Amino acid sequence: MSEKFIPLSVPNLSGNEKKYVDEAVETEWVSTGGACINDFEKAIAEYVHTPGAVACQSGTAGLHLAMILNGIGREDEVIAPALTFIAAINPIMYEGAHPVFMDCDDSLCMDMNKVEEFCETCCEFRDSKLINKETGRQIKALLVVHVFGNMVDMERAMDLAEKYDLKVIEDATEALGTYATEGRYKGKHAGTIGDIGVYSFNGNKIITTGGGGMIVSNDEDLLARAKYLSTQAKDDMLYFQHNNIGYNYRMTNLQAALGLGQLEQLEHFVDVKTENYRHYMEQGIELLPFKEGIRPNYWFYSYLTDRRDDLIKYLQENGIQSRPVWMLICDLPPYKDEFRYKIEKAVEYHAHIVNIPCSTNLTTEDVERVAERLKAFPEA
Ligand SMILES: *Cc1c(COP(=O)(O)O)cnc(C)c1O
Repeated sequence: MSEKFIPLSVPNLSGNEKKYVDEAVETEWVSTGGACINDFEKAIAEYVHTPGAVACQSGTAGLHLAMILNGIGREDEVIAPALTFIAAINPIMYEGAHPVFMDCDDSLCMDMNKVEEFCETCCEFRDSKLINKETGRQIKALLVVHVFGNMVDMERAMDLAEKYDLKVIEDATEALGTYATEGRYKGKHAGTIGDIGVYSFNGNKIITTGGGGMIVSNDEDLLARAKYLSTQAKDDMLYFQHNNIGYNYRMTNLQAALGLGQLEQLEHFVDVKTENYRHYMEQGIELLPFKEGIRPNYWFYSYLTDRRDDLIKYLQENGIQSRPVWMLICDLPPYKDEFRYKIEKAVEYHAHIVNIPCSTNLTTEDVERVAERLKAFPEA
């Protein structure tokens, strides 16, 4: 066991991160004020071509604000994927609303055919309100998740949102760097097409701030409200007048300093992930394809197997970390009684996917060692 351990997905802090964090410490701007936060917001906005961006403590905090800013409240419903990380769904419940769980398609993103079918057959559209006939509740929004750096069919999503007067909230936490290369949204980044988009800079994401998130939108008023709510809804700086209930969700300057160092390397990280993905394939490892017509960030690689749990254990024994895809959220205790619509493919993918090492510091030799082990594993 002298072989080095190959982790699934770890941070790569080989750029200017330390320099920028040191500078932030030297200036003693370490908390929720400081130049790095504004610079980081500007840099992200520039990168994804939005008029602005609002930095927060986590992707989850950003998604919570996204619910509030889009008017999601008590007894409303939000169409949301079953196959995702729970942090995408919890913010719906924070506001007393309910998810309507939807299946995925072969991109692992939400199946827009099923969304349409659900709206047509299970709902009633009256006075610009989409009502779920079974629950009697109004559906207010579509929460789409760009799973593993893939991209949701945003043309269909936006058409349905327009038809049924729904808000579109994009969980782009896994998809910073992903954009469309064809079609109506050519050049548009994941997260910038709907009403609001959220990125995450958690430790396992394509770039990290240790923990952090970013809200983007093309609506500058909405961005201003996001910043206001994330900074305790302070209406007067000197006298502490607060006209609303706000949150302590602002990113710190230290986190933003780290983020600036990371963002400089984002395109390089995408190149490495693309290259490693191709190299796995060249080694005969069949990975789930990303969609046509997009430039994916290749964040996570999905390998399909009939012996998921045995494979994970076998790789572990060979010093290689892997993991199954998330349990379906609709099957977890807090969500088991919520409405679900024809969840089929998500069940299959959940049973068969193993995510294999994809860090940006993965070497060609690492890829070859993982590939060799995978090929040596008996599938039957
Ligand atoms: C990481 C992630 C989040 C949450 O982001 P945090 O920054 O960890 O709060 C939400 N949704 C999905 C799909 C994620 O992968």
